Amino acid sequence: MKRLHLLLMISLSVVMADSYATGKTVSGIGHYDCNNVFAKILDGKLPATKIYEDNHVLAFNDIRPLRPVHILVIPKGEYRSLVDFSTNASDVEIAALVRALGKVAKIAKVEQSGFSIMSNSGHDGGQTVPHLHFHLLGGTKVHWEEALLQQQIKHKAD
Ligand code: 5GP
Repeated sequence: MKRLHLLLMISLSVVMADSYATGKTVSGIGHYDCNNVFAKILDGKLPATKIYEDNHVLAFNDIRPLRPVHILVIPKGEYRSLVDFSTNASDVEIAALVRALGKVAKIAKVEQSGFSIMSNSGHDGGQTVPHLHFHLLGGTKVHWEEALLQQQIKHKAD
């Protein structure tokens, strides 16, 4: 039987917003900021290496990969965080995102070797871009605590 290493780490917090440009964390709640980098990627105003796209989802390589495979999977709709998405998105959008996660894992050829999925929400979660996104990490062994630590170090360096 295939053994997939799938970890969904969701942290939630409820403090006020900031911007990615400063590497600072952002709130998982409040109004959607149309100027965030992922909104610009969706609008075609910023480039990204696209891995997968359908009517509701876009997946693209992270600009600063933490692992050989580091893909960001995002809904096309304007959702700030998982709480926003799970509260306000349609069942079709939610199903499309979950299905896309599996499709992207197959496209990245980490289906057999395994991978980890992480979604940071709000300040305590370490979210820096206020558009819901799932990090799909693989290509080498992933320990989520280590991945999270690396991400925090990376943000401090920004
Ligand atoms: P968070 O810290 O919010 O969980 O993750 C945000 C992620 O977005 C980071 O891993 C960061 O490297 C990535 N990122 C930030 N800006 C860009 C960008 O302009 N393009 C791409 N492809 N990734 C970005």
